[in-house]
Amino acid sequence: MRICRQCQCEMLKGFDIKVEGAAYGIKIAKGTGIFANRIEKPKVAICPKCGEISLYVENIDEISENK
Ligand SMILES: [Zn+2]
Repeated sequence: MRICRQCQCEMLKGFDIKVEGAAYGIKIAKGTGIFANRIEKPKVAICPKCGEISLYVENIDEISENK
């Protein structure tokens, strides 16, 4: 559960990021170029009350393993 930083109410999770005008989403990679070893697609949580948005990654365990 994610709590809005602005009004402390529960945020709605699981929204996808879409870049307008293109079919590409945003991905987060650790490192750059050929050294990037982890690529994650962030999700978005939205506060239904004030519209605050928050980015998060679902499988955070894989990232923090730091292989
Ligand atoms: Zn809010």
